[in-house]
Amino acid sequence: MLTFIVRYGYVPFMLLGINGAAIALAASGAPKWSLVALILFAVVCSFAAERALPYESSWNAPGPDRFRDAVHAFVNESLILVSVAVIPLMAAVIPFDGLWPSGLPFVVQVVFAVLVADFGITVVHLISHKVGWLWRFHAVHHSLERFYGMNGLMKHPVHQTFETAGGVLPLILLGMPVPVASALAVCVAVQLLLQHSNADYRIGPLRPILALNAGHRFHHLKWAGIGDVNFGLFTLIWDHLFRTYSFDPEKRFSSDDLGMAAKPDYPDDYLGQLAEPFRRQT
Ligand SMILES: [Zn+2]
Repeated sequence: MLTFIVRYGYVPFMLLGINGAAIALAASGAPKWSLVALILFAVVCSFAAERALPYESSWNAPGPDRFRDAVHAFVNESLILVSVAVIPLMAAVIPFDGLWPSGLPFVVQVVFAVLVADFGITVVHLISHKVGWLWRFHAVHHSLERFYGMNGLMKHPVHQTFETAGGVLPLILLGMPVPVASALAVCVAVQLLLQHSNADYRIGPLRPILALNAGHRFHHLKWAGIGDVNFGLFTLIWDHLFRTYSFDPEKRFSSDDLGMAAKPDYPDDYLGQLAEPFRRQT
């Protein structure tokens, strides 16, 4: 019974329940700490779902990567919160009125923000696989060798900043209000947890549309070029348009498939990963 609930209920719970709560809190002007508490609750739910219904049991075993991933998560989640905090400052220096559709219901404004951010972040992500110096920063995220929720925030802070800028700058230029940005920040955190989750959940006919774990595992295949697929953060719409969508229902993943075949000795400690993009490439 529990496995059935997790298999079919986990994604609706996170996408509708947690994101819905974030939208309700942000719309009502609730204090920021309540949204931070909601993200922490989502992290707890992510670990619980992975233990209740693992896709690969060995990926639940905490290794030496646990502390490193906690630091990555703390640094990058803090950067997301800072980016929300600076929105009023940036909005103040934009010399024209935004075109933000503030007459629409709040929930529709958040969905609009998610779709705009999805496009910007997906494009920056795709470019990061094609441009050498950007790839060096993004490679930190591709060095993972087990696939679990916290991997979503395992990113070099420089690359996280580029991706956030790609998603959020167009929204700031449009005049996105801070409460919408606050709800969007929770939606991004929830999406990263779901996209890298080790929970063996199912989303049925939505699998080719929503950018969740079944499709995202193909993005982490370790061979150069093979993993250049399924770049989307929230949706796979852009991957279908860019012809970078890939899926094989028969494929079963193990740690041997993940990581970077060209860099088997990539640093696995936090400071080593921060420094790696700046080292001379051999
Ligand atoms: Zn990538």
